[in-house]
Amino acid sequence: MLLPAGLSTTDEEQWVRRMLDRLAAKEQRRRPSDDDLLERAAELSARYLDGKAEPASVRWVENQLHRWGSCTPDQGTIRLSARLRGMPAWVVDYVIMHELVHLLVPSHGPRFWALVERYPRAERARGFLEGFSMAANGSPEEC
Ligand SMILES: [Zn+2]
Repeated sequence: MLLPAGLSTTDEEQWVRRMLDRLAAKEQRRRPSDDDLLERAAELSARYLDGKAEPASVRWVENQLHRWGSCTPDQGTIRLSARLRGMPAWVVDYVIMHELVHLLVPSHGPRFWALVERYPRAERARGFLEGFSMAANGSPEEC
């Protein structure tokens, strides 16, 4: 961290603490909690799916290394790979949207994609995730 010159030790400590607080707040915004995810999912469902997808829970999971998201339609549960944490909100929203549509349509058929495309940045988000996977593993991943 680059400190302004000429600060006393106390000023310096205060300054560092302020910067760390600010950083933590920013980090919090970039890494939504499970509750934030569920709220986000409800908003996306209301806006793009006429509220028809009704997730019971949306949560981060650490053990999902080959898929960005997954769901159990019977239970209305959605899981997102923790690797998405820190990615742009519109990319995380896309994965939530994808899983929300799976609650309504299990397979990747034309009906599925027609619903996913209601999310305006679907195409762009898919490109982002594919690029990320290719760079990280040399292969795309599924969801
Ligand atoms: Zn899928």
